[in-house]
Amino acid sequence: MSALILDGTKIAQEIRSEAAAEVKTMATAGVRPGLAVVLVGHNPASQIYVRGKVKACEEVGVYSEKLTPPESAATDELLGFIEDLNRRDEIDGILVQLPLLQQVDSKKVLLAVDPAKDVDGFHPMNVGYLSTQRPGLVPCTPAGVIEILKRSNIPIAGREAVVVGRSDIVGKPAAMLLINANATVTVCHSKTHDLPGVCRRADILVAAIGRAGMITRDYVKPGATVIDVGMNTVIDPVEFQKFFAGNAKREETFRKKGATLIGDVHPEVAEVAGAITPVPGGVGPLTIAMLMFNTVKAAKMRRGSQVPELSHTCE
Ligand code: NAP
Repeated sequence: MSALILDGTKIAQEIRSEAAAEVKTMATAGVRPGLAVVLVGHNPASQIYVRGKVKACEEVGVYSEKLTPPESAATDELLGFIEDLNRRDEIDGILVQLPLLQQVDSKKVLLAVDPAKDVDGFHPMNVGYLSTQRPGLVPCTPAGVIEILKRSNIPIAGREAVVVGRSDIVGKPAAMLLINANATVTVCHSKTHDLPGVCRRADILVAAIGRAGMITRDYVKPGATVIDVGMNTVIDPVEFQKFFAGNAKREETFRKKGATLIGDVHPEVAEVAGAITPVPGGVGPLTIAMLMFNTVKAAKMRRGSQVPELSHTCE
């Protein structure tokens, strides 16, 4: 039997609409949430991400500002930009698009962001708030993972969750959110022994690895929910065939674009899982939707207003 496909695009649109409704209500009190995005250099992927974020702000009604310090900017110069944004009252969220260039101390720059404006949720202060279940800003992609589960009515409390990946950006915060939602959580990484065996314990399996199609059917308990965070580009025709042979729609995309997107989960997993997020159209769209939510949340928290509630903040 084929897995239920969890439609991230639809869930993301719901969250964006909710954020837009909050922005409208705030406007009646003369407040407009503002997001500043700092983009250094000309990384094409970063440019696409930033365009997507600015477009989402326009759609939701959030004020946005794109700052483009020169590529030669050193750490101190970037710190100056951040300090200026920290001081400006009309800016509620500051997002530094990663990766920064090699000459820059990224950790120092991220640490300089006012935790109250840290809409990426990467500041150690927000990491601490998350782990101690205090109100704060939660990283967008992991928050999106939880929203997909909750809004698809997939129970979390009391269930076995396995997260593959322990990055600060995805794996660790996803695990923390699952713990906070009362799952029993195992976090795996490159040194985990018998990874397929550990993954097969999961009622909820979250893959955040960065390896195309690594999670095959042997890793998945029949009926489990599989959340695929991975975003990998396949350009090699042989690799493409390995994953998508016989998939006419994908073959057409690959012929036209010479590339296609695949997650960390092999497409064959859809035959054993109970529910699964597609790539594209699964976790990806949630990241920007949660950024909009975080910007509204930051604007409210900074003014001492009650924050909008999403399912993951309710428990
Ligand atoms: P990352 O920082 O490279 O972390 C990858 C994690 O996977 C590490 O903890 C690593 O273990 C683990 N890992 C690597 N190879 C493994 C293996 N063979 N077996 C078991 N574990 C292994 O990556 P990330 O930033 O968390 O991103 C993960 C994926 O999510 C990427 O595909 C990325 O593009 C995608 N992503 C998507 C979104 C979105 O919006 N959808 C957002 C962010 C990231 P060690 O710690 O032992 O090295």
